[in-house]
Amino acid sequence: MLMSSQEFRESLRAHRPRVFVDGDRVESVADEKRLAPGIAAIGVTYDFALRPELRPLMTATDQASGRVVNRMLHVNRETRDLMSKLEAVRLLCQEVGCAQRYLTHDALNGIHQATFRTDAEHGTDYHARFLAYMREVQDEDQTLAVAMTDGKGDRSLKPHEQANADAYVRIVERRPGGIVISGVKAIVTAAPYVHGFLVMPCRAMTPDDADFALCCAVPVDAEGVTVVARPAGRPGESAAKFSGRYGQSTGVVIFENVFVPHERVFLAGEHDQAGFLAQTYATHHRHSCIAARAGFGDLLIGAGALMTEANGLDFDRHAHLRDAMVELIKIVEGFFACGVAASVYGQADASGAVMPDTVFANVGKLLLATQIYDMQRLAHTVSGGLVVALPGPDEDHNPATAASLAALLGGRANIPYDKRIAVARMMEDLTASHTGGWYSVISLHGGGSPEAMKREIFRNYPLGDRVDLVERLLDRGVVADPTRKITRNRQPGRCCVQGCSVAETEVRPTRWSA
Ligand SMILES: Cc1cc2nc3c(=O)[nH]c(=O)nc-3n(C[C@H](O)[C@H](O)[C@H](O)COP(=O)(O)OP(=O)(O)OC[C@H]3O[C@@H](n4cnc5c(N)ncnc54)[C@H](O)[C@@H]3O)c2cc1C
Repeated sequence: MLMSSQEFRESLRAHRPRVFVDGDRVESVADEKRLAPGIAAIGVTYDFALRPELRPLMTATDQASGRVVNRMLHVNRETRDLMSKLEAVRLLCQEVGCAQRYLTHDALNGIHQATFRTDAEHGTDYHARFLAYMREVQDEDQTLAVAMTDGKGDRSLKPHEQANADAYVRIVERRPGGIVISGVKAIVTAAPYVHGFLVMPCRAMTPDDADFALCCAVPVDAEGVTVVARPAGRPGESAAKFSGRYGQSTGVVIFENVFVPHERVFLAGEHDQAGFLAQTYATHHRHSCIAARAGFGDLLIGAGALMTEANGLDFDRHAHLRDAMVELIKIVEGFFACGVAASVYGQADASGAVMPDTVFANVGKLLLATQIYDMQRLAHTVSGGLVVALPGPDEDHNPATAASLAALLGGRANIPYDKRIAVARMMEDLTASHTGGWYSVISLHGGGSPEAMKREIFRNYPLGDRVDLVERLLDRGVVADPTRKITRNRQPGRCCVQGCSVAETEVRPTRWSA
């Protein structure tokens, strides 16, 4: 079944989650104005999947069931799937800024890989449980939030060392039919308006942290779950040209003695598997983040070009403005290209799922995380100060000022004042409002802070191959020590005998438009 956005919104009525927004208890999530932009943004992932021309991108056929499912619920089987997901997320985020639902995709793929590996190493039956659960999620076209980032308390301490044991979500009791969990997940995108949570560990665990090595699915309205959320975007603000319509809420999710039946438990104490699950999910997610921020970059490029035009300027005549625009394009397409490379070099694991290349996925995410501030600077460079200095929308209807403002603050003659300020307000919304700051922080920390990406790049980069190369060119090794650390990391399969598998993709970013 593929739902429409309207059906998605209505489906939320079947749940009665305990949600607070700005101190108020929310009785009906589906009707809460402060959450409406978030629900609308996820809704686009549903509507796009129903549009015939977008179906090849927005849907996929599940290999096991043979059913057509939303792309955001599909486990990748070929590198072509990675490309399609990348392009689907970019297209969605062009439209809504942050489509949120790709987190569901990333978690399903990570858990698929991790449960298979855990079973192989521990003789458990998590993978079969997970597949049965995923089938349900696909059949009901659900949206799941990812509850991974724990409260974490004192960052210098491990989970079991925290003064407050609930700083990380953990198993507090094992019963014949399942487990009982408690603790807090601090940042959960879309938490109030999803069907359920995928609870996952946010780090590698030691034996002392075995109770924190936990992965399970919990309905959004399970007894003992409380969501304390922020409004999605800037609902109700007339200046919020974009984020009044589409936005993202995040919630703190508190678990207080929540019972999880065995069939919804996918890791429970196998501490040596927590790191693999966290890293696998993170690689899928960073690959998605690349596409999401490329979609956001497309908005900045378009709005920047429109501001330049409305100001009466021309990229052909003003080299410094053209340079700024090219710089912005270079950043956006540069990190997106890492997403393409991560897709092309993706590899299947023993579970049959295909994962993006770790190095390229992390390099792309690292580039966008640090260059988001340059993207905003460049958008501001071409736009001018009006984006933050313009009188507010209430002034547009003030009989004492409206006419003179329209006459005095016009730009290019054939572009009316109201059109010019509409673009300026959109640029303010995207780059200089609370939402603008939000895009900076989600780019920097969402999917992991830069240090996490740097570690993954160094851990996975085939430094040993590069050392071998230079030593070969020097005719003999620099040090004859096969145990030395510098050559430990080799990566067969790339630029080597085996060769590369190039994605047989029919899709290119320029071909798809909403
Ligand atoms: C808008 C938004 C949406 C998000 N959505 C989700 C979501 O849906 N699900 C989810 O699970 N998470 C989500 N996240 C969380 C995201 O993954 C985290 O923000 C990220 O992993 C960083 O964790 P933190 O925010 O707790 O920062 P911190 O851990 O407090 O890190 C702050 C800084 O301290 C450094 N640091 C932290 N610990 C150490 C240490 N032990 N030693 C040295 N340096 C350290 C970090 O590198 C970083 O520079 C979201 C984040 C944002 C901003």
